[in-house]
Amino acid sequence: MDIYQKYNLKHVINADGKMTILGVSKVSDEVVLAQKLGAQNFFEMSDLLIQTGKYLANLVGSEDALVVNSASAGIAETIAGVIGQGSSYHVYHPYTERITKREVILPMGHDVDYGAPVDVMLGLAGAKMVPAGYANMCTPEHIEMQITEQTAAVLYIKSHHTVQKSMLSIPEAIEVAHRHNLPLILDAAAEEDLFKYLKMGADVVIYSGAKAIEGPASGVIFGKANYIKWARMQGAGIGRAMKIGKENIIGLTTAIAKYLENGSETGDSMVERLEPFVEKLAALPDTKVKIVQDAAGRQIYRAEVKPIGKLSATEICQQLRTGETAIYAREYRVNQGIIEFDIRAVDEIEMDQIVARLKEIIEGE
Ligand SMILES: *Cc1c(COP(=O)(O)O)cnc(C)c1O
Repeated sequence: MDIYQKYNLKHVINADGKMTILGVSKVSDEVVLAQKLGAQNFFEMSDLLIQTGKYLANLVGSEDALVVNSASAGIAETIAGVIGQGSSYHVYHPYTERITKREVILPMGHDVDYGAPVDVMLGLAGAKMVPAGYANMCTPEHIEMQITEQTAAVLYIKSHHTVQKSMLSIPEAIEVAHRHNLPLILDAAAEEDLFKYLKMGADVVIYSGAKAIEGPASGVIFGKANYIKWARMQGAGIGRAMKIGKENIIGLTTAIAKYLENGSETGDSMVERLEPFVEKLAALPDTKVKIVQDAAGRQIYRAEVKPIGKLSATEICQQLRTGETAIYAREYRVNQGIIEFDIRAVDEIEMDQIVARLKEIIEGE
């Protein structure tokens, strides 16, 4: 049975990168096997969350951890936790006026939409967002001047989505929060390093399960024991609407252990896989082809194709996307006449399909 046919869907080749709109990443057989074990057995669910949390905390050197159903849920449950501070009354009455300490300070340039707005997650948590600084800048002083008796936490978003220039650093944000006895909550959803921010002293660090970690749709929060405990309590309140299944708790836990053991694919391995692909691309008419490194200097290598025939890079990408199989190339540089193929989630068979389709498009002009 072909699930694409059954539901009238297109086959997708993702040569774009880790894109949520295409389903982010592929999980390995090992992780699928762990999900199967999770799905086909029973557990004392509260113990499953506590024990997998302990296991994960031990792997990264944090006091505790909690598997959640997404980084977004991680933000909402962590923030709800720091507002409630362990109060059961708060869990059952999360939006009550009896609890007034609800302000969460966020650099204005961090109020981004990563597919959903950060401030919607804060609203879900019952927080009142207090922006610090301006659209183009935020200093430690800007954070400091927003702190009041009602401040519950400082939130920092580490992401390419945010304003980068004139922005206080993570250690600076930690320093100012701690000087006022406030927790610094860090959203590091798509980041690759599971140790760095905890070592800096962030109180809670939140990751998405399906991005760098390549786990199932899920999330994980690492951090100080109290904050994790308070977030875990939300399972009896707002967290119920963000429940994660046992298959994905076991799946993500396995994916994290595997990720820490093997890391991401190395640049050398990517180049090795790219070489035969680039050779075939170079044999196509009307193209200039080479291997290029990621512009931000990350250990990511891609095939760069510069069409020199009648069709523009934009037209070729459009035809790639709208063919029988939807092929998504990386299109950030099409305005400069360049198409990139990111092969992190592309295998050899798919590379051949890309070459064949490009040949059709170019020769059909
Ligand atoms: C992707 C992302 C999220 C959300 O992650 P989900 O697991 O999809 O909820 C949050 N913050 C940032 C900065 C992201 O890039």
